[in-house]
Amino acid sequence: MSLAAVTREDLQKGPHGIWRYHRFLPVPPDCAPVSLGEGETPLVRSAHLGPDLGLRNLYFKLEGSNPTGSYKDRIASVALTRCRAQRKPAVIGTSSGNTGAATAAYCSRAGVPYLLLTLENVSEPKLIQSLMYGARAIAVKGFGTDPQVSQAVFDMVQAVSRERGWELMITANACNPEAMQGVKTIAYEICQQLDWRAPGQVFVPVGAGGLLASCWQGFRECRNLGLVDGTPAMVSVQPEGCAHVARAFAAGRRQTDPFACTSLISGLQVPNALDGDLALDALYRSGGTALTVADADIYEAQRRLALQEGIFCEPAGAAATAGLIRAAAEGRVHPDETVVCLVTGIGFKDLDSVYAAVDTGLVPKLTLADVREKLKDLV
Ligand SMILES: *Cc1c(COP(=O)(O)O)cnc(C)c1O
Repeated sequence: MSLAAVTREDLQKGPHGIWRYHRFLPVPPDCAPVSLGEGETPLVRSAHLGPDLGLRNLYFKLEGSNPTGSYKDRIASVALTRCRAQRKPAVIGTSSGNTGAATAAYCSRAGVPYLLLTLENVSEPKLIQSLMYGARAIAVKGFGTDPQVSQAVFDMVQAVSRERGWELMITANACNPEAMQGVKTIAYEICQQLDWRAPGQVFVPVGAGGLLASCWQGFRECRNLGLVDGTPAMVSVQPEGCAHVARAFAAGRRQTDPFACTSLISGLQVPNALDGDLALDALYRSGGTALTVADADIYEAQRRLALQEGIFCEPAGAAATAGLIRAAAEGRVHPDETVVCLVTGIGFKDLDSVYAAVDTGLVPKLTLADVREKLKDLV
């Protein structure tokens, strides 16, 4: 079917999850997907945070509902489907955690071994999740903090993938533009979930920039297909301690420089923005902007999402919302505008941030008799 002939009704039927959009993904139509039911994540309207900020149409896209707990599953599903179709013997890649867990899960499903190069200070839950799925992992000293080491790791992994014909899993368009197309299904879903209207602004956490760039590609495609009338402004949100895109945007530049990263937000500690140029292009073309927030603002947004919305996310998953809170305070959001914050990963991914926010010591340990007494007092 030609792309032009696609109608909203065609997309309303068909399989569930990202494979509803199979025809837009770089996978032959007769190719059975390597799938765990990724995509078709909830788009929920804000219950309390939006009203607090004076916003009537605030939505959260809950990517933590994906099978391994982050939107990286959309990429891994496309990558492993292609890998199996092309009979590649193995997968090699880098990750700060979520790509590792996603790739490891889909590799185990496809029956393909996976070698993961990760950060020295990788979040423990993300690492053990990858190991549970059977990945082999190596933590590289300086990777994720030192720009030179990080670049050398990317070069090494790309060389191995080229020489041995292994699938390359670095989740950036600069390295694997085919698999990254899985990300654009987020934009298709948002348009569909808003009854085929494009939102006004979409807030996106930015590490290497691929998530934002590929979402923008999806929104553009929806508009070009005539599925929606317009495109949203894309808003990049980065921690102050890793703000290459924001720095380049403020200077009106089209390329990012490496950034000696000091942020502690797992997933957004990316010294080299591999897709920085694409992310910047998306910001300029969409009429968007680039914001920065302190790590403390991100932890605060993480708490507010849990307390006010019932959304349990990892810090990186709360970054977009931290940016929105800032943008609303600065009067950059119209009260009636439809705004979407991407909540990119589930809370179990980074337990240190959760332990810092709650005090398990406040939970009393009582005997059954004492509990009975206590409940009597209450009623
Ligand atoms: C990967 C990731 C991001 C950032 O994506 P980039 O493409 O590197 O900008 C944001 N949040 C979470 C939870 C992630 O896993």
